[in-house]
Amino acid sequence: MKNSMHSKLVRALAFIVIAASALAHFIPHKEGSAAPKSLPYLDLSPNITRGLDLIGTNEPKTANAEARIGVFDGEKVLAMTLRDYLVGVTAAEMPAGYGIEALKAQAVAARTFTLKHITGELRCKSGHTICTDHRCCQAYISVERMKKNWGDRFEERYGKICKAVDSTEDMVMMSEGELVTALYHSSSGGRTENCEAVFAVALPYLVSVESAGEEDSPEYRSTVCFTKSEFNERINAAFPDAEMKEPSTDVEVWQRTDSGRVSLIRLGGTVVSGQQLRNALSLKSTNVEFDIEGDTVEISCLGFGHGVGMSQCGANAMAKEGADFETILKHYYTGIELEFFTPKNELPRILCGAAG
Ligand SMILES: [Zn+2]
Repeated sequence: MKNSMHSKLVRALAFIVIAASALAHFIPHKEGSAAPKSLPYLDLSPNITRGLDLIGTNEPKTANAEARIGVFDGEKVLAMTLRDYLVGVTAAEMPAGYGIEALKAQAVAARTFTLKHITGELRCKSGHTICTDHRCCQAYISVERMKKNWGDRFEERYGKICKAVDSTEDMVMMSEGELVTALYHSSSGGRTENCEAVFAVALPYLVSVESAGEEDSPEYRSTVCFTKSEFNERINAAFPDAEMKEPSTDVEVWQRTDSGRVSLIRLGGTVVSGQQLRNALSLKSTNVEFDIEGDTVEISCLGFGHGVGMSQCGANAMAKEGADFETILKHYYTGIELEFFTPKNELPRILCGAAG
């Protein structure tokens, strides 16, 4: 009895510590009363402009499509129009072979995510406005890279991506008067995840929903095999307190979320979150099952990515079934509205740093 109480207490404490650490990494950021609360976020207060890559232009532009944004590529800040940036993000983040309505949904999600960084509500870990690292912000590829990737099919695919971005121009997702934190991922494995299960912050539009039709996607299921000694080495390198020796007794899933993803797992002498396990072993998701036999540790994974927000595979499955981009977005982002980001004269002023 005492042991069981103790074990529950340890689990509860482990959960709080892990949740707090996840919270520290989560990005929604608001500073005092000067933080933007609802559109238009056009107060050029120091809190909002700090961290923006202000790109100077001779004359402020007058449309969002022509607004220029600074994008950190890991070495330098690239200046480009918001429209060209969104074309590069959509091309990098979703296969061009996906249905046009899925690509349009992707473009709106990318635009919303980007504007949320520009307003200063989401922060890039690099300290810049936004970066090209998909683990931090959003992936991005240049037109030159698209040409290399697509070869003979460049014209057709580039045209399709541009159409997805241009036909949804200025469109963003809003919830209760605020820009949505438009998280998305490759494949949910059949059900998306509640935001708080991954980032320790609950958001009303990022709640778990069914994501049908993903089974045919190559991202749906994956398997990784380690020898026991490889597995022990990887785990002990990532978590020295684990002192992992015998996976068959030292690996114990303590807790799963309602969608089946691992939230707490004991690895030898330590307890880590599913996300920490995923990072340590480069797994595609936290929805894992262990099969430990003989000298082999086999880990099967459902889905690819954190599982929060729109599943890109699921979006494509919906598009194939005839859903339009609005239906897709409203399925994955509960209760949102699509709106135009209208203050066209003001946004470029922020982006271009024309205030000074
Ligand atoms: Zn970033």
